Amino acid sequence: MIYQSQVEELICRLYQEAAIKLPLDVKKALETAHDLEENETALLNLEAILENIKIAEEKDLPLCQDTGLPIIFVKLGNVQVENLKEGIINGVKKATEEVPLRPNVVDPLTRKNSGNNIGRFIPQIDIELVDTDQLEITIFPKGFGSENNNALKMALPGEGEEGIKQFVLETVLAAGGKPCPPTVVGVGIGGSSDMALKLAKKALLRKVGEHHPEERMAKMEGEMLEMVNATGIGPMGLGGRTTALDVKIEYADTHTAGLPIGVCIQCWAARRATGILKGE
Ligand code: SF4
Repeated sequence: MIYQSQVEELICRLYQEAAIKLPLDVKKALETAHDLEENETALLNLEAILENIKIAEEKDLPLCQDTGLPIIFVKLGNVQVENLKEGIINGVKKATEEVPLRPNVVDPLTRKNSGNNIGRFIPQIDIELVDTDQLEITIFPKGFGSENNNALKMALPGEGEEGIKQFVLETVLAAGGKPCPPTVVGVGIGGSSDMALKLAKKALLRKVGEHHPEERMAKMEGEMLEMVNATGIGPMGLGGRTTALDVKIEYADTHTAGLPIGVCIQCWAARRATGILKGE
């Protein structure tokens, strides 16, 4: 049995880690972008980002003032868990107080803030049932400077690979500097409309630099990354060679009459933290 108190503690600890420390793969990708850059403005922006990351770690402070919307990905194996939902909610409340996190959650119409990052259907919890003997939790705090630039297209089947690339490019160009580049671009292909966007977000859980295990998808990721970086949007949208650190694809089979494409843009603050609980 995994107890509610263990879930609460884990959520709080993971939130703290995610808010303060960028995963190593993201940091390394930003350092590489800096080493490869020649544009002076881009260099200044990348230096500021790297300095920001360093100060946040040294001072134990969130690395961006927008500590995001709480999104929690759960992989639930064959284990008994006591009050998983309550555990997650209490863990987010605790993290909001202790880290502290900026209270970002509001009613969509009145804009009244709940004050603790909890709201109707928030934290957003995605549960995937898996055949393991453990509970895996990933905290994915999503800043809205990037989330506001996501897009969905219900393409025609005939648009195929070229149509997908074109839509990704259009979305990145429309976003420009708004999502705080260098970004990581998640692309969800197939499923239904909502699933395509979910897949695009889930693709962002893979490490930067880690390609899709299927060669045809990995090839498309590489081609799209080149295309995105050829836009010259650059760090913070002020020009330069790195607009995106990576492009990640996730896909599902779909209906014969459609080709859903979801694009989820992640800012340079590509925060995520994963932890595992096992039964007794
Ligand atoms: S988009 Fe990302 S880096 Fe920009 S303000 Fe929001 S959380 Fe911070």
